[in-house]
Amino acid sequence: MGRGVTELAYLADMDAAYVRTFRARVLARPPGAVVLDRTFFYAAGGGQPADRGTLLAASGRSIEVVDVTKSGASVLHRVRGSTEALADLSTGTGVEGLLDFERRHRHMRLHTGQHFLSARIFTRTGLRTQKAKLGGREGTLDIEGALPVDLPTELARDAADVVAHPRAVRIRHVPRSEWELHPSARSGLVPLPPFVDPVRVIEIDGIDTCPCGGTHVRSTAEIGRIEIRPPVPLAGGGTRFAFTLSEETTIPHG
Ligand SMILES: [Zn+2]
Repeated sequence: MGRGVTELAYLADMDAAYVRTFRARVLARPPGAVVLDRTFFYAAGGGQPADRGTLLAASGRSIEVVDVTKSGASVLHRVRGSTEALADLSTGTGVEGLLDFERRHRHMRLHTGQHFLSARIFTRTGLRTQKAKLGGREGTLDIEGALPVDLPTELARDAADVVAHPRAVRIRHVPRSEWELHPSARSGLVPLPPFVDPVRVIEIDGIDTCPCGGTHVRSTAEIGRIEIRPPVPLAGGGTRFAFTLSEETTIPHG
């Protein structure tokens, strides 16, 4: 790699997911991309899409961040802009990052909604989530088995209930050795990568604990109303179902 290490500043705590503007320094300029010493832009992964936004140079010129990916320990902000603006962001210079927070906040709502639904499905049926995908206003969950017919109706009721009676969402950083003694049962399907220590655990108060490196909302109230789509059987015995955000919620201040 040789591009330097980008601090994933959005991981630190709950509030870090709400940061929309930040200052950073350019570490490297691989073709078409900018590597920063720290970033609040989420790099695509774990079913959550990458953030979008802009990088503002000290000159006042800005470039568009069109995609964000990881490359080893570096985060590549894929950028598009005028030749002048791109030249302003040379290695060693300071920049300001501005996130498209409307988009990001939708992903935070979807991601928290997904944890919640995966937890309810596990509690009600013992079935775990094999994978989840978020994008636009929709979340898609692949469940490891067939769902009881009345489950979507029950999930819709659960989801409405947790918005009306909000639960706090928290982050805990748990030493791996401790996590492995008491892992959450529903998370056993996806093994933790070997280098992960401590484990970043997302907790929905009284409902769920699950290791995750994504961004989430502070309270289940912020998910807002969701709509559960009819489940679709998958080859191999699993089930796919989707949910959509059915309202805009107010974006809270960082
Ligand atoms: Zn998550």
